[in-house]
Amino acid sequence: MGQTSFEVSTDERVTTADLTDRVAAAIPAGTTGTCTVYVEHTTAGVSINEAEGRLLGDIERVLTEIVPESGWAHDEIDDNADAHLRSMLLGRDVTVPVTDGDLGLGTWQSILLVECDGPRRRTITVVW
Ligand code: ZN
Repeated sequence: MGQTSFEVSTDERVTTADLTDRVAAAIPAGTTGTCTVYVEHTTAGVSINEAEGRLLGDIERVLTEIVPESGWAHDEIDDNADAHLRSMLLGRDVTVPVTDGDLGLGTWQSILLVECDGPRRRTITVVW
């Protein structure tokens, strides 16, 4: 069992970042089991999906359409309730099988950070 963290900078309020290569690089050669990718924040999420540009735009769009930007009680505190609520729909972690150090992702699967309150620096933790 091991653990490491890395940081990712996001450049828009709602956007995605492909974490797949950095997660793959974090897993030591020869590791077999599972790996968990965890985002240490309450206004960003992690998901697995296809990293196709138009789909990434659709992911951003669906989050902003499902959760309206304003009118939430938490907005009186720091004006980002929409980001907290959008991140809840995504979850903050994913688990991926690992065989001999290789991630067991399907052909079209990528590990995506989904930023809901950027631009920010986000800490991603990988545990195996
Ligand atoms: Zn808040």
